[in-house]
Amino acid sequence: MFELLTEKFSNIVEKLKKAKRLDEKTIDEALKDIRRALLEADVNIDVVKQFLSDVKEKLVGQEVIKGLNAGETVIKLIYDELLNILGEEAPLNRSEKPPTVIMLVGLQGTGKTTTAGKLARWLKSKGYAVGVVSTDVRRPAAGKQLCTLAESIGVPCFFEENEKDAVKLTEKVIQKAKDAGLSHIILDTAGRLHIDQELMDELVQIKEKVNPAEILYVADAMQGQDAINTAEEFHNRLGLTGVILTKLDGDAKGGIALSVRKVLGVPIKFIGVGEKIEDFEPFHPDRIAQRILG
Ligand code: GDP
Repeated sequence: MFELLTEKFSNIVEKLKKAKRLDEKTIDEALKDIRRALLEADVNIDVVKQFLSDVKEKLVGQEVIKGLNAGETVIKLIYDELLNILGEEAPLNRSEKPPTVIMLVGLQGTGKTTTAGKLARWLKSKGYAVGVVSTDVRRPAAGKQLCTLAESIGVPCFFEENEKDAVKLTEKVIQKAKDAGLSHIILDTAGRLHIDQELMDELVQIKEKVNPAEILYVADAMQGQDAINTAEEFHNRLGLTGVILTKLDGDAKGGIALSVRKVLGVPIKFIGVGEKIEDFEPFHPDRIAQRILG
């Protein structure tokens, strides 16, 4: 997770530590190094530009902050700018009237089903009565995988193998979940290898039926900018409320984590950091910024 940036930034800091003053040459060199580091980490180009112009604006004409040397001053500015692009911590939305429906959307293989289980376990640990639902009518195996996961964490799973209409299935299982008095329902929707119109139409219809409090795009961090491009298409059709980043444990770059907020304009709400059900946590921008800076 973020190993590349941590290494690059630590080199930048080492270089800056040797500089006592923040003269123009020192600043220019540092900005160039930061630019290279962010681009190598696969951060979106517009986000990189914004990052650099903000840091530059704050640096130029700035005295070394009292008590800090040049290196520490720049690091403080980088930290602040990382927080700026990562955005504020964003808790889960809740519906005024239960159940709160959380729709997970995304392509196949990104970790959607695993994430539905992880999120259910997390909500259960907070004391909520949570259930999971699969609306994937084409791949019954996906529904079974979800129900096996749900069983292992002790939450109810609703799935009807014989119902082949995703919207009808959703209506039925939501009613069942309501009858069961659940506070939260997680909808694991069908994924495809690529976006197709049918998938999008189905998701739009499900959204209209269930009025979800959250539509979270599940993105595989290792897919970098591709994942953001796909997320944008989902966002245009569905109006995402946030992103869950999976497989951050296997992603040394982290570019997507730094790009989502500025590019899509929605927050990252949770991160998946391993294959195990407990490898999941809310997204804390301050911890991520600290981690990146080593
Ligand atoms: P789906 O097709 O989107 O529902 O994907 P699955 O939930 O079946 O997950 C696909 C693969 O990704 C599985 O092997 C999961 O164990 C793995 N996976 C999911 N989340 C994570 C994660 O945060 N880290 C790692 N390393 N693997 C993950």
